[in-house]
Amino acid sequence: PPDALRVRGLSVSFQMDSGADVAAVRHVDLDVPRGQLVALLGESGSGKSVTARAVMGLAGPGSTVTADEITVAGTDLRTATARQLREYRGTRMSLVLQDALSALNPVLTIGDQLGELFRVHGGVSRRVARARAADLLGTVGIPAPARRTGDYPHQFSGGMRQRILIAMAIALEPELLIADEPTTALDVTVQAQILDLLGSLRTQLDMGVLLITHDLAVVSEVADRLAVMYAGRVVEAGDADTVLSRPSHPYTEALLRSVPQLEHHGADLFTIPGSPPNPARVPAGCPFHPRCHRAVEECSTVRPQPVSLAGRTVACHQSEVMLGEHV
Ligand code: SF4
Ligand code: MG
Repeated sequence: PPDALRVRGLSVSFQMDSGADVAAVRHVDLDVPRGQLVALLGESGSGKSVTARAVMGLAGPGSTVTADEITVAGTDLRTATARQLREYRGTRMSLVLQDALSALNPVLTIGDQLGELFRVHGGVSRRVARARAADLLGTVGIPAPARRTGDYPHQFSGGMRQRILIAMAIALEPELLIADEPTTALDVTVQAQILDLLGSLRTQLDMGVLLITHDLAVVSEVADRLAVMYAGRVVEAGDADTVLSRPSHPYTEALLRSVPQLEHHGADLFTIPGSPPNPARVPAGCPFHPRCHRAVEECSTVRPQPVSLAGRTVACHQSEVMLGEHV
């Protein structure tokens, strides 16, 4: 089957009040195969959420989206009408955000909110819709689901509400699930449980999952592949084990070093100096060069182009040097 998501050359810019166009995403390529979980990583402001919203057809007012390809399960979204995009949302692709409480309707029971999806899209009776809702709550790990369909969102914990949002996102069996920082508001134990759930759903439902996060610690266990974004571009992408065991971009390396490690506890945690650039003032050459401890002279003038190297794609003048160190 075609990939859940295939993106080539995606660029997204926004018109500022001044009239200037500012690029938030530049020439991004991204693949999410069916049955795999791909982590899209980077600090806030790197363009991850903009990428996700552009794929969903929700880039928003003032945006310009261009791409050579955006296909979801083989369907070309670039030529889709606004009406088709609305129809695809939920049925072919879904987006889960972090704030479950505000995404759920506080005055409707969970059974009614889930059941409504089946009634609208499947034309089934209320009773059948309720039964399916209970099934789905079971699928996402809500205990005693048949007894919970009559409960309201506030009667569930934050973690359980996030499971309910995931249930709503997968109800109509989309091929692609995008989860944008789905666990940020949750404590560490619950975070791990939600990620386990996403991990098991990807295989169980043969769905592609794109997990957006700034936190590498949460993805190393569950991701099949990863793509690291910086200043609107993908700077390193490939098989998760390959990239994490031998990063070949200093930004990936820095993200890894800033993950708390149990065996190093007590040691000072590394933080990347400085902050990501304002999209309106991206440095010349490599956008990471002002923060990069490996920068060489050409880094401030020559933009590194993505190349295939040691099983991944990477854009950095020092990749080969870095890979040499790990041998
Ligand atoms: Fe650092 Fe240069 Fe590589 Fe950019 S191209 S990440 S500045 S070494
Ligand atoms: Mg974001």
